[in-house]
Amino acid sequence: MPPMRARSTSSVAGVTPPRLRPALDRMGTYRPGRRPDAGQDLSRLASNETPYPLLPSVVTAISDALAGSNRYPDPAATVLTEALAAKHGVDVGRIAVGCGSVQLVQEVVEISCDAGDEVVYGWRSFEAYPTMTAIAGAVPVQVPLTHGHLDLPAMAAAVTDQTRLVLLCSPNNPTGPALAADAVKDFLEGVPDRVLVVLDEAYAEFVDDPLAVDGTRLLSSYPNLLVMRTFSKAYGLAGLRVGYAIAGTPEVATALRQVHLPFAVSVAAQAAALASLTVEDQLLARVAEIVAQREPLRRKLIEIGWDVPAAQGNFVWLPAGADSDRVAQVFEDHGVLVRCFTGEGLRITVATPRDSERVLAAAKAGLVPV
Ligand SMILES: *Cc1c(COP(=O)(O)O)cnc(C)c1O
Repeated sequence: MPPMRARSTSSVAGVTPPRLRPALDRMGTYRPGRRPDAGQDLSRLASNETPYPLLPSVVTAISDALAGSNRYPDPAATVLTEALAAKHGVDVGRIAVGCGSVQLVQEVVEISCDAGDEVVYGWRSFEAYPTMTAIAGAVPVQVPLTHGHLDLPAMAAAVTDQTRLVLLCSPNNPTGPALAADAVKDFLEGVPDRVLVVLDEAYAEFVDDPLAVDGTRLLSSYPNLLVMRTFSKAYGLAGLRVGYAIAGTPEVATALRQVHLPFAVSVAAQAAALASLTVEDQLLARVAEIVAQREPLRRKLIEIGWDVPAAQGNFVWLPAGADSDRVAQVFEDHGVLVRCFTGEGLRITVATPRDSERVLAAAKAGLVPV
């Protein structure tokens, strides 16, 4: 018999917890960003949320929908799916809507991997990738970044007969750079068609580099491509949980719908996403305000002495390395909550001009005196 695993979080003395999956031991536990106490004036820059509250018309659409929430939501999110299909000029059969794109990340692993199959992704990248790979019992193949950039040639070289899925993140969370369109095309040409390639474009609306990839333009040429987008970032609906995938081929979207948790996208979430699409211009104007601050903030951080990689999302990366915990504490002392990746660096959301000023003050104070 395999040895009994003693899990660290046994809560009742002397009680042996039920036997759970050994895969959980490899997963770690999610550490949520710190929430400010009531009345505390902190810049909340740890989770890449928008600083703007919902538009009034979106709030109205949600409250109108709530009155009918004694009924289950439309499991197919039909109206929202139609709107997204129209927006992207694809057939409805190629869209799958999920409870945030995090759920879709879980589902792409579920539809592609049996236990032991390999998932290739860059590292560091989005934290859901290792988590969802581990839940599925698949094998993570992590390809190191080069100066914050995904190394596509190395990722292509990491693909084996066991590879079922590649997860590309552009712009890469948490480091910032977007992939170039040409590089992604080369990558897709080099990877076998049987491998599902996901391009996670959670921050697509913040990208202003004309050479950067827009996955939706590649879908018609690469049936094994799947593009993921979300309403959590540019559309400001992080608290409502809606994301979607556009597949290069309808079979992949159908598979996603097969493994969906039924009714995962709530009535409120569907209404909010739909209403947001109708006021897209106003939301994209907000995005433009954030984008306008991003490069000046990055330049000033570089002037101060931080080596900040290209930033195409609504965040910048401070490679503080072994010093990260200390620097994160300096930020907190300056009233700024950031996401600290111990031993690697800090991810800082770009929000309001006032937030950027505080970031600069903290970044100056956080530099090690030479
Ligand atoms: C924020 C983010 C998402 C979006 O997650 P939701 O579940 O839609 O809120 C997806 N991918 C990346 C890389 C992200 O940073």
